Amino acid sequence: MTTPTRAERARMPLARDVLQAVAEENGVCIRPVAVRRTDVLTGETEVVDIPCGATRASICPTCAERKRRLRAAQCREGWHLTAEPALDADPANDEQRFLAGLRADLTKAHACATGAEADELASLLVDVDEQLADSGMRGTLAPAGAARRVRSTKRRQDTPDLPRRTVEARTLGKAYTTPDGKAFRPSLFLTLTLPSYGRVRTDGTPVDPAAYDYLRAARDALHFPKLIDRFIQNLRRFVGFDVQYFAVVEPQRRLAPHLHLALRGTISRADLRRVVAATYHQVWWPPCDRLRYTPETAPTWSPEHEGYTDPASGEPLPTWDQALDDLDAAPDAEPLHVGRFGTQLDAQGVLIGSPEANRCIRYLTKYLTKSVAECHTPAGDPEQAHVDRLAAALQHEPCSPTCANWLLYGVQPRNARPGQRAGACRARAHKREHLGYGGRRVLVSRKWSGKTLTDHRAERRAWVLDLLGRTDQAPDPHRYLWAVVRPGDPDIAPLATRLLRAVAERVRWREALETARSRAEGQTHPTTTHEGKAA
Ligand SMILES: [Zn+2]
Ligand SMILES: [Zn+2]
Repeated sequence: MTTPTRAERARMPLARDVLQAVAEENGVCIRPVAVRRTDVLTGETEVVDIPCGATRASICPTCAERKRRLRAAQCREGWHLTAEPALDADPANDEQRFLAGLRADLTKAHACATGAEADELASLLVDVDEQLADSGMRGTLAPAGAARRVRSTKRRQDTPDLPRRTVEARTLGKAYTTPDGKAFRPSLFLTLTLPSYGRVRTDGTPVDPAAYDYLRAARDALHFPKLIDRFIQNLRRFVGFDVQYFAVVEPQRRLAPHLHLALRGTISRADLRRVVAATYHQVWWPPCDRLRYTPETAPTWSPEHEGYTDPASGEPLPTWDQALDDLDAAPDAEPLHVGRFGTQLDAQGVLIGSPEANRCIRYLTKYLTKSVAECHTPAGDPEQAHVDRLAAALQHEPCSPTCANWLLYGVQPRNARPGQRAGACRARAHKREHLGYGGRRVLVSRKWSGKTLTDHRAERRAWVLDLLGRTDQAPDPHRYLWAVVRPGDPDIAPLATRLLRAVAERVRWREALETARSRAEGQTHPTTTHEGKAA
């Protein structure tokens, strides 16, 4: 074989695109992750591919679409519930054990990686954490920081101006009966938005960019998850039952996040309005309205002080805890930010199983395969400039107590460590594609369907196996050890080979499924006809 010419080499990436298209068409992950599986009984090891599990179609259309469908199933099932969900805390399952192991390996690799590899591993870690959360793992695997501070009385959240009822243990709304004896449970589709930051045109760009409040917009987006938590908490206390929801966060055209919620049970518009109006979230953080340093003149780490010091005087900066103590001691301290919803509120009653409910579910899951920014691609210069201004407002804003940006304001971040770069925090809230919202896109309350995404996935698998007449048991969780295979490992076949292998397997699998399905239909069909005739 001759070496490929320059022109031939230039065409090679195209072949890869074709291969990806074939993989996508056949429902095969285009970015499989190679893992080494060791059978502890036999000692055999094998490199196997697992789907990447990406949520965004721009990364892997197959995994993203599969996940979107699972989400729709999860949304439908919880909304349709007519009996309280069974909730038993399962012991860690196979997938969780695998993911936890994977996370440990990635964390280790991340700790000694630098540059682009570190970034890549950091984003993989975020993906794995999301998958862990989806699999029903509660809490976080990150090393626990210092003991949680007891909040002083001054920095408490004021209680909302709402009557408080005891929250009953039920999660179902009221059932109604029609005169002809049919029972139904109305539910709600609710949309909540943030307040105005200045008038906008239909394309979402400000009429007067100079007067548009980008700082408030940035802070509202950063603290949106907390505001949602407060709203749910207040709602439950006000209506007196354990309201459940399936919610999705999406950007509006003006780039502010808004929230769509499928709520189980019904609540009057007047009551919703009251709860929305009374809900707010106070952010008790040290002041950060004035930059004390620039990224170039930022405080530096001093091993001697085990903390960050002023580059000119060498004096250590106040630690996070000291800064909070100062806030407590200040007689006229105010919260850095108070987040509230806007006055716009859209609530519609939905009858479960109705075409309207299906339309809402489609709407809720429609944009899940896109990143926040991909939901509205800037069409022209004014829109691009609007994104730029919001990104600029977010760049130096602290996103959390541990954010490296605190150094710009003369405060050490919580759990300060060497190597933090002021103005270059890597958290996703600062990234353009997230527009300040660093939280999860899909928020599902614990007792929504009583099942995790993993349970929903397992049900689909069980259905397929059942149709094929196979009785594959879930593998013994203790039988295998899993480890990540680092790129460049000689045991990994070229991507093209792996994709083709997966496509072939998929085709075989689908043919078997088709055969089984037509056989099943062939068996049941005469019976149905017979019954039909009898009736
Ligand atoms: Zn994938
Ligand atoms: Zn940050």
